[in-house]
Amino acid sequence: TTLRHVKKSVTAMDVKMWQQPALGKREEAAAQDNPEDLKLPVSPSREFVSRALVSSRKQYEKMYKQSMNDPARFWGSFANDFHWERKWDTTKPICRYNFDLQKGPVFVEWFKGGYTNICYNALDKHVLEGRGNSTALLWEGNDVGSQKRITYSDMLKQTCQLANYLRQRGVKKGDRVCIYMPMVPELPIAMLACARIGAIHSVVFAGYSAESLAGRILDCQSEVILSCSGVQRGNKILPLKKIVDDALQLCIHQGNFRPGTCLILDNNRALPRNKVSWVPGRDLWWQDEVKSCNTEAFVEWMEAEDPLFLLYTSGSTGKPKGVLHTVGGYMVYAAVTFKFVFDYHPGDIFWCTADCGWITGHTYVAYGPLLNGATVVIFEGVPTYPDPSRWWQIIEKYGVTTFYTAPTGIRSLEALGDQYVTKHSRSSLRLLGTVGEAINVKAWLWYHRVVGEGRCPIVDTWWQTETGATMISPLPGAWPLKPGSATLPFFGVQPVILDQQGKEQDGPCEGYLCIKKPWPGIARSLYGDHKRFEETYFRTWLGMYVTGDGCRRDPDGYITLTGRIDDVVNVSGHRISIGEVESALNSHPQCAEASAVAVDHDVKGQGLYAFVVLVDGVTPSDALKKEIMDCVRREIGSFAVPEVIHWAPGLPKTRSGKIMRRILRKIAANQFDELGDTSSLADPAVVEQLVDSKRSMR
Ligand code: ATP
Ligand code: MG
Repeated sequence: TTLRHVKKSVTAMDVKMWQQPALGKREEAAAQDNPEDLKLPVSPSREFVSRALVSSRKQYEKMYKQSMNDPARFWGSFANDFHWERKWDTTKPICRYNFDLQKGPVFVEWFKGGYTNICYNALDKHVLEGRGNSTALLWEGNDVGSQKRITYSDMLKQTCQLANYLRQRGVKKGDRVCIYMPMVPELPIAMLACARIGAIHSVVFAGYSAESLAGRILDCQSEVILSCSGVQRGNKILPLKKIVDDALQLCIHQGNFRPGTCLILDNNRALPRNKVSWVPGRDLWWQDEVKSCNTEAFVEWMEAEDPLFLLYTSGSTGKPKGVLHTVGGYMVYAAVTFKFVFDYHPGDIFWCTADCGWITGHTYVAYGPLLNGATVVIFEGVPTYPDPSRWWQIIEKYGVTTFYTAPTGIRSLEALGDQYVTKHSRSSLRLLGTVGEAINVKAWLWYHRVVGEGRCPIVDTWWQTETGATMISPLPGAWPLKPGSATLPFFGVQPVILDQQGKEQDGPCEGYLCIKKPWPGIARSLYGDHKRFEETYFRTWLGMYVTGDGCRRDPDGYITLTGRIDDVVNVSGHRISIGEVESALNSHPQCAEASAVAVDHDVKGQGLYAFVVLVDGVTPSDALKKEIMDCVRREIGSFAVPEVIHWAPGLPKTRSGKIMRRILRKIAANQFDELGDTSSLADPAVVEQLVDSKRSMR
């Protein structure tokens, strides 16, 4: 099986070289039996290094120092690659900020006094410089064979038409526009059209329920909704317009709020027009209205600190937060991280599987790649339709060079078997990436060996909706990788690791991850609630941005995320990170996915409670339970062995695919009536099944 395949290739000597995070003893034992090729840490190939933008740690360190010592020069030179209608005030510092609540309100300003427009830089600039015929989007529909290619000049025209239409409907700078659309080309076009006219977009993942959508519309009072008749994802048809209708009803009842415009894209592949209900005056068909609009639209020049968009977080740890980003800093940071983290070269075909409904889609489907003039694949469907080889088929079809996805997708496809991957050529791939959650070692090794054929570096990128773009990540040609480690900070990012007293630690250590100084892409506020912004990120430790995540730094300076701060468990005085327990559970070949939470324990203070989803077709048994517990014993120690293993049909996840441990904590503690905010839950049925099975365990 996959795991055995992976383990075979780890040599004992390599394992010794690689101190932290260590492979489990189990892998080490297996490796001794089969000394083979994979060297850990994994170095990029000579070929990769030879064309990499940053090709050594030394070169990185030089640039990193510059970014910290002279941010005006460092960021100013990247910002100068863009068009500024008026340059920022260079007589003042390029960044002004206050992170210390004791000294007054928290604020951050970059490129103050400058005027620019992100849509202009993402589209017009390429067209004006003669790149209008190069491909911006390669769109792949849900059904095999439905596809579209859109050049930069096509995209500019469509964006201008929509921008003009929105203006006609009265949308002006600063107005909020809610975008509730599937992954069709019109989704990034809608974002860009808003940016062009200075409207603040709020993209809501098209899959959220009417209640969740209503909450998000009300929170920012968007008068205009851009949506779609419906979408087919896999076999399932989602009646998006119906969900919008229901949401707008709720807006009236809950908030006495009545948006005036719903522009609906007619997606007759999923739902024909006559199947959609209609409120005349409010509801308008996109195709009918927009096609007659002028294909040129003037640009609203935006001050660098004017808002660009707001976006709700995934809601893994609590009620989603409406994170606000501004134009100048976000633009520069999105573009520069894209270029270096994905080692972008013209001609690359870049595919990020994230939906534009998440920050990853904002930064690495839309803005980052387009600002660099790149070609992006966007995919409407799901990885398992019509069969589980769809992603790899798309990679082969378009010659994807750079593939960026989330651990949840990797794990679920790994569990289905290698044959789906290997039946398609992945020879075009140069680089792989992951984001969203910690990636466990087994899934990392599978991604590297099976998907990337051992050839492609993996950038494990740590960041948050609030950070705008990647913060800690390998630069793929510059240093060796360790599975599960996000490695080193990006330029301009100064991570600090605090102990439990809030003291900064040096060298190898473990603790709370905070960031000391503002980088250009940091969120400026939570929409309409600056107080919550300050309390959430700047209260716990004064003077720095508190990420809420824990991490460890090894002797090489590599940073490995260990999970949410809330997800550290104290068992009989041992501080155990949930991430590591999960990685150990996951290392069992028959475990498809696992999660663990802390429960109160009379003797130990806290104990661990594990939820385990088995690989398809495997039957649970006590013997298997023991084997899985033994994985934890071997890899971490007997103190970390969970008290309970709960066979789970699935795990509750956010719509963006992250495990919602706060719900698992409540289930483990039998607090079924206190599940908290479930507006971002992907599949409520999973929670019901877990609750039922927990009830019957009592
Ligand atoms: P909420 O803030 O509403 O609870 P969320 O934190 O899941 O939701 P996001 O901004 O989508 O919302 O996710 C950011 C979080 O995802 C990070 O704080 C971190 O915990 C996790 N994360 C992202 N990338 C990685 C990674 N490469 N390794 C480990 N964890 C990651
Ligand atoms: Mg968060």
